[in-house]
Amino acid sequence: MRREWIEAARPRVLADAARSAALLLFVGAAVIALEVSVVSTPNFPHGYRWVPWLVSVVLAATGVLLWRMPDRLPTLAWPLVPAVPVVVILLLALGSNDATASSQLAFSLPALFAAYHLTPVVARLIAAEIVVAETILCVLIDSPKAVIEDSVGVSLILVGIVLTLATARNRFDEVVRLLRYEAGHDAVTGLLSRRTFDLDIEQLDHDQPVSLILVDIDDFKTVNDTFGHDVGDQTLRIVAEALSANSRQDDRAYRLGGDELAVLLTGTAPETALRRAEVIRRAVETGPMAFVARSERGRVTVSLGVASLPPHAPRKSELLRAADAAMYRAKGAGRNRVVAAA
Ligand code: GH3
Ligand code: MG
Repeated sequence: MRREWIEAARPRVLADAARSAALLLFVGAAVIALEVSVVSTPNFPHGYRWVPWLVSVVLAATGVLLWRMPDRLPTLAWPLVPAVPVVVILLLALGSNDATASSQLAFSLPALFAAYHLTPVVARLIAAEIVVAETILCVLIDSPKAVIEDSVGVSLILVGIVLTLATARNRFDEVVRLLRYEAGHDAVTGLLSRRTFDLDIEQLDHDQPVSLILVDIDDFKTVNDTFGHDVGDQTLRIVAEALSANSRQDDRAYRLGGDELAVLLTGTAPETALRRAEVIRRAVETGPMAFVARSERGRVTVSLGVASLPPHAPRKSELLRAADAAMYRAKGAGRNRVVAAA
C-alpha cells in the first residue's frame, strides 16, 4: 500500500469523526434548548416563548445538515462549529435565567477538543470526568430532577463525542500501523520488502562501509514444478530463516522478489561479508530438508553474490547491480557457491 494513500486517508477518516461529533453536539444542544422550552419558558418575555422551540428545531436541523452534507461548509469554517451551539445556548440561558446547561457545555468543550489528540484511555477518563463534574454541578446548583435531565441531554452526548473522536483516531492509527507493516514486509517470508530495501539504500550513510549479500535459490523453478507452489513457499521460508538466523542485530534481511533474497550489512568490511555469505550458504545446504514429497527428498542450495561499498560499487545505487553480477557468476560457475564482486 502506498504511503501517499495512507497520508491522504488520514484527514478523510478524521473529517468523518468530526462530522459525527458535530451531529452529536448540535443535537445535544437541541435537547438542551428543548429542556429550556419545557422548564424555563415562563422566564422569557411575553410573546417570545416560542424562541427556545424554534432554536431547538434549527439546531437539530443544522446538526443533520452538517452530517449529511459536510462539503457545504468551507473547511476554514469548521473550527467555528463547536462555538455555534455554545453561543446559542448561552443566549437562550441569558433569556431564560437557566444558566446551568450553558455553563456545563462551555465547561466541557475544552476537554472535548483535547480528546481529539488523545488516546482512548485518556478519552475515557475525560468522559468519566464530564459525567462526575456535571452531576456535582447539577446537585450543587439545581434540583435532583435537573441531574437526570442534564445527564441525558448533555453528559451522554458529550461523552459520545469524546469517544467518537478518540476511537476514530485510534482505529486510524491501527490501520496505518498495519499498512506500514504490510508495505514494509514480505507476506510469504516475513522478511523486509523490496520497498524497504530501496528506502534503506537511499538512507545509507556515505561514510560508512556497507556490504550486500544477494541470495538466489538454485533451480527453484524445478522445486515449484516438481513439488508444487506450497513446497516452493516452504522452501522460501526455510532459506529466509537461514538468513535471519545468521544475521546480527544491525543486519537487514529482505526478499527482493521471486526467489531472490538479500542481507544488507552496515559497517562491515568485504572480507567479513564474504565469510558471512559462506555461513549462510552452508546453513541452507545442511539445514532442514525443504521438501519431502512424492517419496523424493530434495536439498535446496543457494548461489550468493557479495558486493561492498567501497570498493566494488562507486555509488550506493550500484551496490545491487554489483552483487547481482557476482551472483550470476556464481550461477555460471555451477551454483551453490559464493562469489565476490569484481
Ligand atoms: P536458477 O538456479 O538459475 O536461479 O534457476 P531458477 O529455477 O531458480 O530460476 P529463477 O530464479 O528464474 O526462478 C524463479 C522462480 O520463482 C520462478 C517462479 O515461478 C518462482 N516464484 C516466484 N515467486 C514465488 C513465490 O512467491 N512462491 C513460489 N512458490 N514460487 C515463486
Ligand atoms: Mg533462482
